Amino acid sequence: MTDSFDYDLFVIGAGSGGVRAARMAASKGKRVAVAEERFLGGTCVNVGCVPKKLFVYASQFPELLHASAGFGWSISSPPKLDWRTLRDNKTAEIERLNGIYNRLIDNSGADLFDGRATIAGPHLVSVNNQTYSARTILVATGGWPYIPEFPGSEHVVSSNEMFFLEDLPKTAIVVGGGYIAVEFAGILNGLGVDTHLIYRGPALLKSFDREMGVKVTEGMTAKGVNILLNTEINEITQHDNGLSVDLNTGSSLEAGLVLYATGRRANTQGLGLETTNVVMHSNGAIQVDDNFATAEPSIYALGDVIDRVQLTPVAIQEAMVLVDHLYGNGLAKIDYSDIPTAVFCQPELGAVGLCEEQARAEYTEIDVYVSDFKPMLHSLGGGSDRITMKLVVDRLSDRVVGCHMVGEHAAEIIQGMGIALKAGATKAHFDATVGIHPSAAEEFVTMREKTR
Ligand code: NDP
Repeated sequence: MTDSFDYDLFVIGAGSGGVRAARMAASKGKRVAVAEERFLGGTCVNVGCVPKKLFVYASQFPELLHASAGFGWSISSPPKLDWRTLRDNKTAEIERLNGIYNRLIDNSGADLFDGRATIAGPHLVSVNNQTYSARTILVATGGWPYIPEFPGSEHVVSSNEMFFLEDLPKTAIVVGGGYIAVEFAGILNGLGVDTHLIYRGPALLKSFDREMGVKVTEGMTAKGVNILLNTEINEITQHDNGLSVDLNTGSSLEAGLVLYATGRRANTQGLGLETTNVVMHSNGAIQVDDNFATAEPSIYALGDVIDRVQLTPVAIQEAMVLVDHLYGNGLAKIDYSDIPTAVFCQPELGAVGLCEEQARAEYTEIDVYVSDFKPMLHSLGGGSDRITMKLVVDRLSDRVVGCHMVGEHAAEIIQGMGIALKAGATKAHFDATVGIHPSAAEEFVTMREKTR
């Protein structure tokens, strides 16, 4: 029966989720194909998490160099960035990672097709002018930046282009109030670009704890980002020296670059899904059930293209669950609760569990512990940064249901807190844990006084 198909599994898209599913299926002896039209490793490796974090590192040096003076260092000449060195070194590193992905797929025994695949029927995939049959097709095509249409929108760039700019502009406007907008505003500002962040709503990072969003806004402002809330762009016109940007507030700005970070949409256009019974949500994301099955029995989908949680580690988990469902004992289940996440803005934000507002809605009585302090680095180094930490506790069970942090190393610290929350840690467990001194993280186990 198996042999009547060319492949057991045909994966479309070699991003984090697709590659993991392909490798795991191949390791179980399945005949697997992967098709990728753009770059191995998908958004995360090529135009997302990885190069973004390299840029974040690059953007932090001026502040560190400044702080070093308080520790006795003198830097004889003012630091100067060579953008092209940064960009090209980043690209070389990404190409190294592309090679690793290539080898991972190769070593797994899966066939890799370098080309755009389209679905030609419930069991058919066409790529590079050939059509292959597959018992199961996995759509893991990810997402693509969404830019609204308005007069002059053709002059703006998305996060994709930010990784390959010919030159760094002197002035930039970043539009949006989510992950990508705040991260890039921090990067540009740190690299020395005069940066405005424009957001249509009243507060940045609205999917996070409100107090933490405010702390990020204050921290970014202190570092020099000009943040305009409740503001939208009406029109952009291009002239010899750059872009003129008209705002709905009646004022206008000049900028060398405008970046729209206004969300990402599922990559489903032109995929041939109309040849199947696959059903999509109104935003184009593919509808799937708990096992990532679409309405077409032979077709599955996971990762950003299903738009549940657009995070790399989530796509990887989804892939593990899918492979267990298809080729294992089917017991693995995905748990979307308590997913730790971090925004690599400056100051950094990390969170796991419920924000205070969600906890108030869900539990009858909650206790909130907040600590706000100056990082030790700044005692000699100067600098405006602060660290804010917050624990949200369900009073009845004493369980810590939310853990939030704004400040240096938030991502690293919150990852560990994620294990504690997953294990159901209570506030008493936190209190009974010995701190590591001197560290910022110890504050999480020494919060004795309720804030509210
Ligand atoms: P987000 O959904 O996080 O944010 C989109 C922002 O754009 C929101 O503030 C939204 O405003 C605003 N927006 C949407 N449409 C418009 C419009 N027409 N005009 C003006 N503003 C608009 O998306 P991102 O693009 O920042 O990131 C996409 C996803 O990628 C994230 O949700 C995250 O899952 C993932 N990601 C994760 C990272 C990490 O783990 N560190 C880093 C980067 C991305 P409003 O809220 O008012 O709708």
